[in-house]
Amino acid sequence: MTDRAGAIGIDLGGTNLKMALLDAERRIVRREVVPTGGADGHDAVLRRMAAGVATLREAEPSLAIAGIGIGVPGEVEMATGVTGDLPNLPGRWIDVPVGPAIAAATGLPVGVINDAKAFALAEHRMGAAAGADTALLRTVGTGVGGAVVAYGRLLYGVGAMAGEIGHLVMQPEGPRCTCGNLGCLETLASGPAIVAEAVRRVVQGHTTALTRLHDGDTSRLTAADVANVADEGDAAAIDIVDRAGGWLGMGLAGAIALLAPEVVVIGGGVAPEGSRYLNAAAATARSHTGVIDIERVAIRPAALGYDAGVIGAALWGRESAETGVDRV
Ligand SMILES: [Zn+2]
Repeated sequence: MTDRAGAIGIDLGGTNLKMALLDAERRIVRREVVPTGGADGHDAVLRRMAAGVATLREAEPSLAIAGIGIGVPGEVEMATGVTGDLPNLPGRWIDVPVGPAIAAATGLPVGVINDAKAFALAEHRMGAAAGADTALLRTVGTGVGGAVVAYGRLLYGVGAMAGEIGHLVMQPEGPRCTCGNLGCLETLASGPAIVAEAVRRVVQGHTTALTRLHDGDTSRLTAADVANVADEGDAAAIDIVDRAGGWLGMGLAGAIALLAPEVVVIGGGVAPEGSRYLNAAAATARSHTGVIDIERVAIRPAALGYDAGVIGAALWGRESAETGVDRV
């Protein structure tokens, strides 16, 4: 494949299928976003992916494509492109041959990757962890996902699930997690965890500006609402955000003890740069790290924002096509 080839990334989300065409310099030159429509079943979703790829290629007919990468929200057998459990996606996704189906429909090589690993790949290749030998990468949104980099390589592991500290059990009698366990980090530090705590306080009649949002309709509260109200000085919202960020920081402290990383990158919709949540997580990770010189660990916001997942998927499409899954 020529050095001038581009790549296509597909981010399979619960709401939208985000697709992008990257040129040889890894810049996004075209985008395509359509509703995932997972309730229609996986065959319909795969047809939408193939149609999106065709649209992107028709828009840039002179650009050769090295490969397609698909980020999926859960387990995948990377050598075969067959999905495992994707619990946050409507429909039944266990044992769906996503990679082979899109390869057959498009005639291009296809690599499938866990979506948090795609985020991490993008941040490690060209974002906040660029050049790091050892790094810990977290993305906080509906869940708490991420990856670890060791010796300059992303670790994938069984089902591509290495580094899933979102499922460290922090409270053995805590809330039920999507994975089946009780009290996982994700149930305490994710966007839905923040919303659930906000709703609880509103329903229980706590004094907080959160009660006035959306005409009192708690079903419309978001983690961003809680962050905004906290930034306005509301004590209850501040407490909710600091606790959730603090839980993430506790999980990070454990992972820092395991890896002694040069860099910790935190991204995702719940933890934007400069946010109260991010600051709480970093402060707690620092204060709970004793055995490693925390001054030598850089804790940074993610650099690629909303596009990291689709960029990482495209990078994986290119890398897996060129070097093979086993050697990346
Ligand atoms: Zn869990």
